[in-house]
Amino acid sequence: MSDKSLIRASASAHTADLQRLTEADNAAAAAATLMEAAAEAAQLARAFADTRLWIFDLDNTLYPAECNLFAQIDQRMSGFIQKLLGLDHAAARKVQKDLYYHYGTTLAGLMAEYGVKPEAFMDYVHDIDLAPVSPMPELDAAIARLEGRKFIFTNGSARHAERVAAKLGVLERFDGIFDIAAGDYVPKPKPESFSAFMRYCEGGDCKAAMFEDLPHNLEAAHALGIKTVLVRSDYIDHPSQHALAAATALPPYIHYETDDLTRFLTRIVGK
Ligand SMILES: [Mg+2]
Repeated sequence: MSDKSLIRASASAHTADLQRLTEADNAAAAAATLMEAAAEAAQLARAFADTRLWIFDLDNTLYPAECNLFAQIDQRMSGFIQKLLGLDHAAARKVQKDLYYHYGTTLAGLMAEYGVKPEAFMDYVHDIDLAPVSPMPELDAAIARLEGRKFIFTNGSARHAERVAAKLGVLERFDGIFDIAAGDYVPKPKPESFSAFMRYCEGGDCKAAMFEDLPHNLEAAHALGIKTVLVRSDYIDHPSQHALAAATALPPYIHYETDDLTRFLTRIVGK
């Protein structure tokens, strides 16, 4: 064999060795990841083993924020205020957000300051296209396997929650929907709202867990002894979300966080 052929053969053997090592590394890394995921799933299953009351926010929690459904509602709220007060979009947007931050919901502010009838507002802002929402059979399967009772607790309307939950294919899994009207238009995170919800679902001393995208709503839940799970998204609007995004650690009132509700629930119930 010539020197050149020898060099080529040696290089080729070296490349094959490197490839085998890389494959072995990849396999080891994949095995480690699987073990980590299994350990995390086991830990979550233990942590939620005695939970019998499961509370889900709707918007940007039960459905992912990426589908931009809430963004449609948000824009319709601006449109409602534009018409109501004869403002341009930017001015209406400012009024909307000021009311939201001050009163907890835009609706609560419009009722208090402008005497708006809640039904008219709800019908208008929830008149949206549900096409971006797709059925989520894996989410449905995970919710089905949670032991205990399950509720949607929303600052929106029951009709909106029903439509969206039906489109996701999870509506039948829930024992009830507690909406803003059921709470006499007092929104989360006000204590009266949580008290009314707990009376409605007869929560009592039941071990409960709550899933939410808004940190301040979880702070109120935590104060009642409810286990809290933050469902993170890129839809950051409220000051409490901005504060959390800038924080280096989770506040003590958030016990868990996830950016994928289906995956989190699947880890609790097992495959
Ligand atoms: Mg929400």
